Amino acid sequence: MVQKLRLPATFAPQNAFWGGKNEAMLELRPNCENCDADLPPASLDARICTYECTFCATCADGVLGGVCPNCTGELVRRPVRPESMLGLNPASTERVLRDTPITAT
Ligand SMILES: [Zn+2]
Ligand SMILES: [Zn+2]
Repeated sequence: MVQKLRLPATFAPQNAFWGGKNEAMLELRPNCENCDADLPPASLDARICTYECTFCATCADGVLGGVCPNCTGELVRRPVRPESMLGLNPASTERVLRDTPITAT
């Protein structure tokens, strides 16, 4: 007799993840902290560190050399949040920008 694995009847993304709360969610910032380029949630050019410092691919791979200038952590591609989840957990609209942008020397 094979036991079937069954999802509870209440299974739905909004119940499965953090009960719909926003605290544990990745902050999808709308821009590059260094050059202010737009980084929409679906962008494949967004790079983040573990602290969610957000940069565009041009800055991250260029002047920053793949290293976050704030925390010295790795910058990796930000995962894309599926559009179906953005209604429930919208991307951040708060732009974060460095006082002094890092430029090539
Ligand atoms: Zn940038
Ligand atoms: Zn960082």
